[in-house]
Amino acid sequence: MTLLKNKNALYINGEWVASDQLEAVLNPADESVLAEAPVGSSAHVEAALAAAYHAFHKGPWPRLHAKERQAKLSQFLDAIERRADEIVKLIVAEAGSTMMLAQFLQFGIPMKHARNTVEIMTRPAQTSLPIDLTPAPDGTTTLGATVLSREPVGVVSAITPYNFPFFLNVGKVIPAMAAGCTVILKPSPYTPFEALILGEIADEVGLPKGVLNIVTGGVDVGAALTTDKRIDLVSFTGSDVVGAAIQAQAAPTLKRILLELGGKSAMIVRPDADIRQAAMAGVGGFTTHCGQGCALLTRHLVHNSVKADYVETIRQIIGGMKVGDPSDPSVAVGPLIREVARARTEKYVDIARAEGAKLIVGGKRPVGLEKGFYYEPTFFDDVHNSHRIAQEEVFGPIGVVIGYDSDEEAIEIANESEFGLSGAIYSRDAGKAYEMALQIRTGGVAINGGAGTMSSHAPFGGIKRSGYGREYGHEGLNEFTYMKTIGFHSA
Ligand code: NAD
Repeated sequence: MTLLKNKNALYINGEWVASDQLEAVLNPADESVLAEAPVGSSAHVEAALAAAYHAFHKGPWPRLHAKERQAKLSQFLDAIERRADEIVKLIVAEAGSTMMLAQFLQFGIPMKHARNTVEIMTRPAQTSLPIDLTPAPDGTTTLGATVLSREPVGVVSAITPYNFPFFLNVGKVIPAMAAGCTVILKPSPYTPFEALILGEIADEVGLPKGVLNIVTGGVDVGAALTTDKRIDLVSFTGSDVVGAAIQAQAAPTLKRILLELGGKSAMIVRPDADIRQAAMAGVGGFTTHCGQGCALLTRHLVHNSVKADYVETIRQIIGGMKVGDPSDPSVAVGPLIREVARARTEKYVDIARAEGAKLIVGGKRPVGLEKGFYYEPTFFDDVHNSHRIAQEEVFGPIGVVIGYDSDEEAIEIANESEFGLSGAIYSRDAGKAYEMALQIRTGGVAINGGAGTMSSHAPFGGIKRSGYGREYGHEGLNEFTYMKTIGFHSA
């Protein structure tokens, strides 16, 4: 496949800046070297901070009319669409995503979200409040009026993980730029090219200098982008542990932060559910992208009267799934990102067994796939919600089933989690499912596979250790603004 023209350089202030430090980026499907990627230094970070700060405080971008920014961002998205095939191939090669997932979820959905953001970005940024009469000490009244104005929050650092890199890069930079902010994007060191390609797009459409800067690198680059006083807001997606570190790192400069973190989301299967439909969703809940998804449904709470049927259906579905090279369209489950991720998955399989869980399917590396970081989809029965395998995010293809006897018990188990990102309910009684959804403490719940939580109009995000702040839709756009109250005194 063809890789970027400037694959050894970072994108700073509208220029390609070389790095003398390079790092091999592996294709997780066969462990081959995809390309050498640049690694940002402290000098690169400083240059990007200066560029983004200048572009925000002195440059044209925040001062343009929203319609002018909208036109530029529409061109930006058009330019991405023209390179769709190349980007999809890159997502497969760099993130190890299967082809169908790359086309639909990793590319199609973020582009839909981005188009929606660009469409709504010109809606009134100002709201007039009702006229107010305030009594004065002399017995007269003061006539006042107030306008609320949404202003861009400033310089944003966007820090993203490896699992849905293109999705999350676009999901952060588009609303930030739409609001009038300037951005420094730092991708995961495993997936630098899905970020750097946005630099080529920025070049092509002539984005003003310094509006979008892309600095690759690891923890030191990320840390600098969460501590420097020139950054106003950090939008972070990643693990809860790093999220907590970023909250601490950002505290001395009192930055605003958005944290989209991990999950251990519950799927409740009521006794009246269509078991095959629920089991299909359940399998997707721990095998999609080899289990490397924050909102995946990895804890299956199934009514004891239908649990045996559910477990058997899961076993049969998994038996028909092909694990292997993600560029093969017949493959359903690709590799994990790196050996360290597979080792973590294997560690959790050992933990589950030691906790007394019963292995239903999987539990080992697939035979015949010597190269690539593959692991079989793995499902455990006889799990208690207090087990580590039911509480901790594995980020590998592991699902568990826990039995329950009443709706109340199911809700209680679902809520007994330190995370609170997503959830699902399967039931033929949609009204009952809705009542239960209201009692589940997560940022979103999907009923019977409802895709509403993936709608471009719907905000996405979590509570508890899954973080705070929202992405997508109006709420996501507004996260990159602050509210200014302008009062008129007309006495
Ligand atoms: P990670 O937390 O290890 O790393 C994420 C990013 O943070 C990387 O770019 C990394 O270089 C950077 N980073 C690491 N330490 C840092 C520090 N101290 N300061 C600043 N930046 C730092 O996450 P990962 O392993 O790449 O991704 C998997 C995690 O992401 C999972 O926990 C998953 O649930 C989560 N995730 C959440 C969502 C969501 O929307 N809630 C979406 C996708 C992934």
